[in-house]
Amino acid sequence: MSTVTQGSRSPKVVIIGTGLGGIGMAVHLKQTGINDLVILEQGSEVGGVWRDNSYPGAACDVPSTLYSYNSFKTDNSWSMRYSGQAEIQAYVHGVATKYDVLRHIRFNTKVVGATFREETGDWAIRTEAGEEIVADVFIPAVGTLARPNLPSIPGRESFQGESWHSSRWNHDYPLEGKRVAVIGAGASALQFVPHIQKQVGKLKLFQRTPNFLMPYHNFSYNDGRHRLKKAKWFMKLDRFLFWYAMEIGQQFLSSWLWGRGMVKSMSLRHLKKQVKDPVLRQKLTPDYEFGCKRVLFSSKWYPALSQPNVDVLTEGIEEITPRGVRTADGVEHEVDAIIYATGFKTFDIFGHMEIRGAGGALLSEQWKEGAHAYLGMSVPNFPNMFVVYGPNTDLGSGSVMFMLESQFPYIKQGVERIRELPAGSYLQIRYDEWKKFDDEIQGRLAKSVWVTGCNSWYRNEYGRVVTNWPQRSWRFRRRASRFDLAKYQVERAARQSAMPRVAAEEIS
Ligand code: NAP
Repeated sequence: MSTVTQGSRSPKVVIIGTGLGGIGMAVHLKQTGINDLVILEQGSEVGGVWRDNSYPGAACDVPSTLYSYNSFKTDNSWSMRYSGQAEIQAYVHGVATKYDVLRHIRFNTKVVGATFREETGDWAIRTEAGEEIVADVFIPAVGTLARPNLPSIPGRESFQGESWHSSRWNHDYPLEGKRVAVIGAGASALQFVPHIQKQVGKLKLFQRTPNFLMPYHNFSYNDGRHRLKKAKWFMKLDRFLFWYAMEIGQQFLSSWLWGRGMVKSMSLRHLKKQVKDPVLRQKLTPDYEFGCKRVLFSSKWYPALSQPNVDVLTEGIEEITPRGVRTADGVEHEVDAIIYATGFKTFDIFGHMEIRGAGGALLSEQWKEGAHAYLGMSVPNFPNMFVVYGPNTDLGSGSVMFMLESQFPYIKQGVERIRELPAGSYLQIRYDEWKKFDDEIQGRLAKSVWVTGCNSWYRNEYGRVVTNWPQRSWRFRRRASRFDLAKYQVERAARQSAMPRVAAEEIS
């Protein structure tokens, strides 16, 4: 490691994204006095997934008391226990306004690439418009569930009706009386299907895999019976109890697999109670390990699927035709519109950008068999870069807000360390530290329910769980609480690295 003389500079930080990750990160940095901050946002509003997912019924299945920032003060006057999309987006906007983050944001600015320049020790970030923005610290906070996954079903382009992805809802299309195909039966479909089922003439749900469901009871804090629950002490208690229950859930999914039996039978009882038709119930009964796919929450899904204007089709899709969807049994299902509720490119979160690190390392190449980073934030060969909500920082049970709020202070400390370095110096995670961490995490994940054979957005085709953290969330918080400079190598611009450069192939 190079000897570093203490300096004091004001590093320029560029964040990409204005979702809960990007905005929260900006608040933390500003609180440390880092104001040379630019946030690049491809949309024209803040909110990330809560801006994009405006489908009918979009809401959070984690209580708002837990799905809000807790590391700085915000206006937590939620109207519902589980808030809807518009309220969450307004909340993000409110935080960005209150903490003076809005003036740092450049909207309608799509980043297409970023290159680390060893000669100057900084990042050159390129936008679609051809502009180059230089930063000392690069913080992509683009999220895991941001890039729609449109399936490569043969004939998809040939469909002559209207079609859209659930996260890009077509609000101009009148659904009343229409024949509508919904492809996919995950968390998004689960929320919008009960809404549109009442409007459409016929709804055909193409389900590849059923999910385990738990009942979901929402209430309004403005309802007289629940008004008392708006008291600060109640909200704090609610937050703690829900967090604690989810921690136990996370333990049951990641290591105490024996503990899932009781919850599984609650889920199957929920199905039995709500679906009387044995044929439909059979179609909706999962045949994989409880918790292998994300467990979902709804008390409206099964009743909606039991309505006479809904068909649940499990035959498998062979192709999309100009008039509809042809299933493997040869039947062509004619429809007016197709809604793809087919999820997100969780294995390729930076697929829309070319990110090049030191020595020309290409992130997509280094991550070709699955994304990985030290504590989900630091990637070898990518100096002065911190990923917010990066690989292995999601939970099978828990609130991503808790994980984000563990990452913000860590990254803030990292930026402070960079601030103390002389200009042109940069730091990157040491290969051996990253490797030790990654081996440990993947070793733990090998004992989790997420590797028991189901098809999920957690585990990629190489068998690597790329999204989930394998322990309870407090353990992540404890590990991320201190930025240990000894785990990083410090280098000087235009100088040969003290450590041997690690080949991308060795890491992937
Ligand atoms: P998802 O859970 O990944 O579900 C995608 C669905 O599309 C699955 O049913 C999948 O089937 C199906 N599918 C994908 N490709 C297909 C193909 N080629 N042919 C047929 N079916 C196909 O996506 P999502 O429902 O958008 O939810 C993603 C995540 O977003 C959630 O798990 C959750 O974390 C987050 N979310 C959260 C909330 C919330 O309340 N907090 C709400 C909505 C979404 P298979 O299961 O067989 O792969």
